Amino acid sequence: MRIDMSHGSGGKASAELMKDIFAKHYSNDILNKMEDAAVLELHGRIACSTDSFVVTPVVFNGGDIGKLSVCGTVNDLLMMGAEPKYMTAAFILEEGLEMSLLDQIVSSMAKTADEAGVKIISGDTKVVEGKGGLYINTTGIGLIPAGREISAGNCSESDVVLLSGNLGDHHACILSARMGIKNDIKSDCACLNRLVNSLLENNIGIKAMRDITRGGLGTVLNEIADASKCGIEMIEDALPVHPEVRGFSDILGLDPLYMGNEGKMIAVVEAEDAEKALALMKQNEDGKDAAIIARVICGKGVVMRTRLGGSRVVDVLYGEGLPRIC
Ligand code: MG
Repeated sequence: MRIDMSHGSGGKASAELMKDIFAKHYSNDILNKMEDAAVLELHGRIACSTDSFVVTPVVFNGGDIGKLSVCGTVNDLLMMGAEPKYMTAAFILEEGLEMSLLDQIVSSMAKTADEAGVKIISGDTKVVEGKGGLYINTTGIGLIPAGREISAGNCSESDVVLLSGNLGDHHACILSARMGIKNDIKSDCACLNRLVNSLLENNIGIKAMRDITRGGLGTVLNEIADASKCGIEMIEDALPVHPEVRGFSDILGLDPLYMGNEGKMIAVVEAEDAEKALALMKQNEDGKDAAIIARVICGKGVVMRTRLGGSRVVDVLYGEGLPRIC
């Protein structure tokens, strides 16, 4: 059975779609009230982030658009030191979409939200003409505990930058699928709750965190250098890249520095906490390939110390990159 225009009509077919797929997977005390709006009891500082997901293919090695739409928003909340609590989910479905595929994606989304401790509390579905595609928007809400100040603008000279693992996995996975290239490259799509919590619970002096998505590490480090009005010096030899992703990107002339991930982050920490933070990351499945990759210096912009002892400027990603990676 496929989605058709009647599923967006607001009538009987819409109600069935709601009951048979969305309500079935997302059931929780707030959503189940089915009021016009979810009512939340929140106290304190609130972090809010929204993101739209348009990746193709919608199912890929290591995940799908449903899992991705939760991880992307949860990770953005986590990067501010927030505890992710609630999420909304809006779907734009193209007519012709296979109902069983939608069910699979919604189920994967519900499972990922559950694992991340997030309740899906409000949603929407629209149906448009098209070729069976599907787009998801999620908005997440999290609470920032009192006294926690994590921001891209907090970094200062001598701070150390840790990267939680291999660069480029998600980008290389999606590009492989799009180009019909068979390989074992798996997306790193993951919610980073455990990784972030282990740093916070062990009182690591975290100045800033960012997940590495579109634009890649090179772009993220430039954003941090700009926000903190300081420079960042990278060590080329320290950058972890999976051998298969390295080989794939070499063939296509891609630089893993600008390739997106969906389950990797950087943490900028005080120098005296760097080794402890690295050890904590490595204990975690999502951080087992973590490395210290850079330090904050006086100056501006990002420079790379190369293997040959020279240095070069690392700029932000210009131009297109790979569209529809997330
Ligand atoms: Mg982000």
